[in-house]
Amino acid sequence: MMNAVPEPLERLIEAFSRLPGIGPKTASRLTYYLLRAPEFESKELARALGEMREATTLCAQCYSFTSIDHNPCPICSAEGRSARSICVVEEPLDVLAIEKTGLFKGHYHVLHGAISPVEGVSPDDLRVAELLTRLEMNEVDELILATNPTLEGEATAMYIKQKLEGKQVRITRLARGLPSGGDLEYADSSTLSQAMEGRSEY
Ligand code: ZN
Repeated sequence: MMNAVPEPLERLIEAFSRLPGIGPKTASRLTYYLLRAPEFESKELARALGEMREATTLCAQCYSFTSIDHNPCPICSAEGRSARSICVVEEPLDVLAIEKTGLFKGHYHVLHGAISPVEGVSPDDLRVAELLTRLEMNEVDELILATNPTLEGEATAMYIKQKLEGKQVRITRLARGLPSGGDLEYADSSTLSQAMEGRSEY
């Protein structure tokens, strides 16, 4: 049987299909859309894809993503934000979710994952050592453990708390009410606001 889809299009459809949340149907739709759209659209997309990795790096302070010409990141270098309060999250997208609530005016620390024996993720695979160094080197009043309300997120919060035993820092955890087992990233803004405001000693 002859393939009805020309090979170059097939390749793009396959590439789109590998992205999260995009099935084969959407992948085809995007591909044919780009084929018909003015050429600059696909050129611009290709350029953005090509430059994305080179132009992005991890913030030297909080380990969230930032552009190479803005390191430390805009949040870490913003005036009027307190470095004495650090909110610990699993993923860079969690920073965006908490920023949307507009309630937090401190700094962040992105772990890049959570402890998971099942998936073979240990504290050494995360930015935990960097967090402990940050706490050694700077005066920090409050550490908000905003890891996900999942088994992995809880284990990670517990591990960090144990590491800080005897240290002069207030440790809090986001209030219950976040959907248990869910990801911070997907929590709606008002639920997350409530969880942030109702955070308690951990
Ligand atoms: Zn930063």
